[in-house]
Amino acid sequence: MDKLMIANLPTNIEKVDFFRQELHKSVFIKRDDQTGMATSGNKIRKLEYLIKDAQNKNCDYLITNGGVQSNHARATAVIAAKYKMNSLLILKESGKLKTEGNLFFDKLVGAKIKMLSEQQYQNLPSIIEELKEELTESGHNPYVIPMGGSDGLGALGYVDAYYEILRQEEQLGIEFDTIVVTDGSGGTYAGLLYGNKEANKNKTIIGMSVLNQREQAVRDIVHVLEDMNQYRDNDLRFSDKEINIIDRYIGLGYGKSQLDELKFMEKFAREEGIILDPVYTGKSMYGLYHELKNGNLQESQNILFIHTGGMFGWTDEKINMLYGSI
Ligand SMILES: *Cc1c(COP(=O)(O)O)cnc(C)c1O
Repeated sequence: MDKLMIANLPTNIEKVDFFRQELHKSVFIKRDDQTGMATSGNKIRKLEYLIKDAQNKNCDYLITNGGVQSNHARATAVIAAKYKMNSLLILKESGKLKTEGNLFFDKLVGAKIKMLSEQQYQNLPSIIEELKEELTESGHNPYVIPMGGSDGLGALGYVDAYYEILRQEEQLGIEFDTIVVTDGSGGTYAGLLYGNKEANKNKTIIGMSVLNQREQAVRDIVHVLEDMNQYRDNDLRFSDKEINIIDRYIGLGYGKSQLDELKFMEKFAREEGIILDPVYTGKSMYGLYHELKNGNLQESQNILFIHTGGMFGWTDEKINMLYGSI
């Protein structure tokens, strides 16, 4: 499959002193927060494939969906602007609506936004169909990207990332026995796991869920994995047991923060100069820290954490929680 080549790759791998000092553990971080396109994090690797496919099909309108502060929706809108395409973002409203963070950047780059209440959002598939039809009738050629860009095609971006890691291991003279990544809609995890099996490697791939409980998270990942074989001309089979999801750090729920988590991110930022985000990477790094502190992951000697981006998740609400209103 061909793809756009817009991400800044390979992304750096850096040592995280934090874990060595506190826990005497060897942890590295892969800076996928620096892939570019307005800090599009992991989403750009998936969109390189998806938007190329849209171009190959002569589509001029990208439709996608997500939460009101979706990193994926914003990344789609930014890349659409770059390629002179239109974008329609179908967003699920939650809490008090503020034009900040990702939603602000959606507007800045000219995305059309359709806001749905939580109740309306339950009819998402039929709403997408209607909007698609409307656009087609007005002479456009729309292309629908699934939530998070997480289908078999998008996940190819993280098969590539897996092979990128193998090449970097050779250059660095390190072997990572464990890869830890934040899991939301499953595409990133699925791509890494697929690469691990395709390359006949035996790394432990851990997904720190920030969205769904284990069972649902596994179901979503299996769904993506099954969709991938067609693009790799392969027939890899995965059992649920191979899918290593930790769901103990979802906390109060997707997008919701606890002060303890935010304090951890502050400490990490001060010691490492690396900014995590409250919705995804902050929770999963917090999770990794507590797993190690509790003596889990004993067999893991060299751990690679993938920083998937998300900085615009620092909305007013989170900042106020940490520092009080300014
Ligand atoms: C979307 C996202 C994830 C989760 O990736 P999935 O492929 O949806 O599982 C992790 N971190 C950040 C910052 C994200 O925006």
